Amino acid sequence: MFPLRLPRHKCRICGVEVEYSQVKVHYQTTHPEYGKWGRQLHTLMWLVLGSGVALVIVDLLYRSLNPILQYIIPAYLLGACFLLIGLHVRKLIAFRDAWKKAHLLPNEKRTEES
Ligand SMILES: [Zn+2]
Repeated sequence: MFPLRLPRHKCRICGVEVEYSQVKVHYQTTHPEYGKWGRQLHTLMWLVLGSGVALVIVDLLYRSLNPILQYIIPAYLLGACFLLIGLHVRKLIAFRDAWKKAHLLPNEKRTEES
């Protein structure tokens, strides 16, 4: 009936496959903490980007005064990116573990009982 199968997104926390149009809704309703973290990450990314732009402006204005700035900016942005990715991965693992503890253990108990 539906020959065109839309690509689906596999939830990074519970592993359920969700339609792409429903991904945001799924994270907001099923994993509200993760949705909240996503917004915090977004804010952090904008802060890094904003401070990066500010540094570029400072670099353009004072390059003659401080030539080392041109090395500091890429190092800062790269470091900040790695830091954000690391933070995100750690949060993701923590959310997944919490989800498993809350949802997989009762299921195992149920199958043992039946
Ligand atoms: Zn999920």
